[in-house]
Amino acid sequence: QVVTRFAPSPTGFLHIGGARTALFNWLYARGRGGKFLLRIEDTDRERSTPEATAAILQGMEWLGLDHDGDVISQFEGAERHAEVAHQLLAEGKAYKCFSTQEEVSAFREQARAEGKSTLFRSPWRDADASSHPDAPFAIRIKAPQDGTTVIRDQVQGDVAIRNDQLDDMILLRSDGTPVYMLAVVVDDHDMGVTHVIRGDDHLNNAARQMMIYEAMGWDVPVWAHIPLIHGPDGKKLSKRHGALGAQEYQAMGYPAAGMRNYLARLGWSHGDDEFFTDAQAKEWFDLDGIGKSPARFDLKKLENLCGQHIAISDDAALRQEIEAYLAAANLPNLTETQSGDLERAMYCLKDRARMFPELLEKAHFVLTSRPIDPDEKAAKALASVSDGILSELTPHVQNASWTRNELEQTLNSFAEAKEVKFGKLAGPLRAVLAGRAVTPSVFDMMLVLGKEETLARLSDAAT
Ligand code: GLU
Repeated sequence: QVVTRFAPSPTGFLHIGGARTALFNWLYARGRGGKFLLRIEDTDRERSTPEATAAILQGMEWLGLDHDGDVISQFEGAERHAEVAHQLLAEGKAYKCFSTQEEVSAFREQARAEGKSTLFRSPWRDADASSHPDAPFAIRIKAPQDGTTVIRDQVQGDVAIRNDQLDDMILLRSDGTPVYMLAVVVDDHDMGVTHVIRGDDHLNNAARQMMIYEAMGWDVPVWAHIPLIHGPDGKKLSKRHGALGAQEYQAMGYPAAGMRNYLARLGWSHGDDEFFTDAQAKEWFDLDGIGKSPARFDLKKLENLCGQHIAISDDAALRQEIEAYLAAANLPNLTETQSGDLERAMYCLKDRARMFPELLEKAHFVLTSRPIDPDEKAAKALASVSDGILSELTPHVQNASWTRNELEQTLNSFAEAKEVKFGKLAGPLRAVLAGRAVTPSVFDMMLVLGKEETLARLSDAAT
């Protein structure tokens, strides 16, 4: 069974890059009937905060990236991590190092001064420590000293690292705390992780993690180190390219499905497919399709995909997501009536909106109430119509039965009788019904508003 994981360090919000890493792991597991686990790497006690953990969970929830099982705290596994270090010690694959921090620093300083490698070679590796008096010691792994370590990476290919570049890294510090590198390996092994998809900034760590796998005789997971995300200018994605927090996109009004689609395409491709559903993404996602060069973040593409996802979304689900967006953006909630009206109107709103603010702008006609206050463009359209024409139209509307066909017929024949193009009437009618120039079609608005409300708005404008 495939088991993947997302292992964020809780030091801030869920970054766009982290969200993509989580998504890739989620898609890989979900498409294969596997498990997707969540581990919070909170071993750095100074930088980890519960607020950051909460923000990461919220971001994942918004994106619909549900994980299996409990949220795992890496810090809570410290005892188990230490146990593994002691096991390696007992097996002679690691050793007690009594060198103090000062000695190590002094060594490095001297090596630097002499232009030599600063890789610390502990004198304790081959020393007999059995008669050493009681003193604090670190546990260091016996790293291979010659040959190469090869990382078989699914994205980067085989990456060879010369072993003389690797030091006998510390597994357990002299205060008994495990190092991060040990914790990651032990956790991934104990959690049964089969595939690790993560940023290629961790590629160097993989070589050191490999030593621990080999010393323990554990299976190495399949590694896929994905290139980082760049901005449109090809430089590493940063604040000046725009928002970096996944949830900032929720607050700007991007739908989660569009964001998922976009993030999936960010560094992964499936032929020429740009737009796809979650079901397709789960079916198609694989490691072969991950590109070797950094993907570029492109807001235009994101917006286009979002528009396509809004168009195919279920009306009730969209309404709910829009209400969550309003809360995330600190905008006023909808009243119960507005919420119901919005859902009824959704069918004629979702066609061409790329983001929720745009959709809500088109929804103004149901969210507002009489008297309708026209904006500048709408006021202009109203002024363009000759006096009395709206009052003349009223009885025709009054007598129409409330179907699209009949409303179309009524308005068209009225326009014909008045010898104006229907287009000339549409602007003023938009203004009457919505107070806006950009709205759904006049017929859709009439159908959604109903006869009584339509007539009331007409009569307000006609007087
Ligand atoms: N905690 C690491 C990070 O947030 C990820 C480590 C890993 O995926 O192995 O970058």
